[in-house]
Amino acid sequence: MTFHEKYGQYDLGEGHPFRGDRFANAISFFKAHGLFNLANLTLLEPKPASMEDLLRVHSEGYVDLIFRLAAENKPYDIETPVSPQILEAALLITGGAIECGKAVSDGKATKAISLGGGYHHAGRDYGGGFCIFNDVAALVAYLKTEKNARKFLVLDYDVHFGNGTSDIFYDDASVLFISLHQDPRTLYPGKGFTWEIGEGEGEGYNVNVPLPPGTGDDTYLYAVKEIFIPLVEEFKPEIIIANGGSDAHFADMLADLNLTSKGFFELSSLIRENADKVCDGRLILFVGSGYNPKVLPLCWYALVAGAVGLEEFNMKEYSIPPVEPPFCRKKVEEVIGELKGLLRNYWRCFS
Ligand SMILES: [Zn+2]
Repeated sequence: MTFHEKYGQYDLGEGHPFRGDRFANAISFFKAHGLFNLANLTLLEPKPASMEDLLRVHSEGYVDLIFRLAAENKPYDIETPVSPQILEAALLITGGAIECGKAVSDGKATKAISLGGGYHHAGRDYGGGFCIFNDVAALVAYLKTEKNARKFLVLDYDVHFGNGTSDIFYDDASVLFISLHQDPRTLYPGKGFTWEIGEGEGEGYNVNVPLPPGTGDDTYLYAVKEIFIPLVEEFKPEIIIANGGSDAHFADMLADLNLTSKGFFELSSLIRENADKVCDGRLILFVGSGYNPKVLPLCWYALVAGAVGLEEFNMKEYSIPPVEPPFCRKKVEEVIGELKGLLRNYWRCFS
């Protein structure tokens, strides 16, 4: 697991939902519950990402702009502030993702956790949605150019659509990008519809699963089993990269899906089982989002526990989860049917 104390500098300010204490709070919670021993996990301190690491996925003009904004302490946009401290943290967090890639590709570990990572709203030449550098894309590009990896499956389980990651690999068949997220008509960034399936060489390699507000564990996991599992078996990636955090939890303030911590555990257990099945266990998990500080450490614990193969998860849920509205399951079945129809010409499993 990669982590640096200076990650705490990624603090977007008083009143902002993204505060810098999230990282250390999660680490304390993990320690208090013995996660590092149970999971045989070690903490690794990353070096900052280099200019080369950034330029594999971002344009020079954009990187220059971010460095300039940081020096002048000016925001990128209204919800994405930039400062020298935030820049330093962003470089370390991106470095953390690359360190995970190094550990897994060099065979030092089969699983790695990029704690605090997953800035999926940053594209080649834009930022936004609290994100300045796309560490998920930087990891993929690093593995491609430095480690000769050829086939990646990126599963974006954040409640928001990962528009930046999707855009960066939209015409790239080496990256199968699957995103489960709340229906974009009801949530930032307003993109991520089923018919956005990629273009050029990458046509069929961008898979969006929009879910209605209210979707709970069973329906969410049903969607994962219907889409992710057949695709991972057919595509056979060399590595699975999953990014998200706790913002699909029922008590999160920024979105309206209804997952529980147990649901997160089952989700990441499922991802791990498939990594074990198709790519010798190679899995890098990013755990970074979440806007209810009261449930964030619990959900991040659940996600890490599932990814590293703990057999059970018996932690107490924060409060009683809401009941899924009855229309959700039917709506998701329709979305899955529609998506399989759109993808049937690209994937045997859906034909
Ligand atoms: Zn999010």
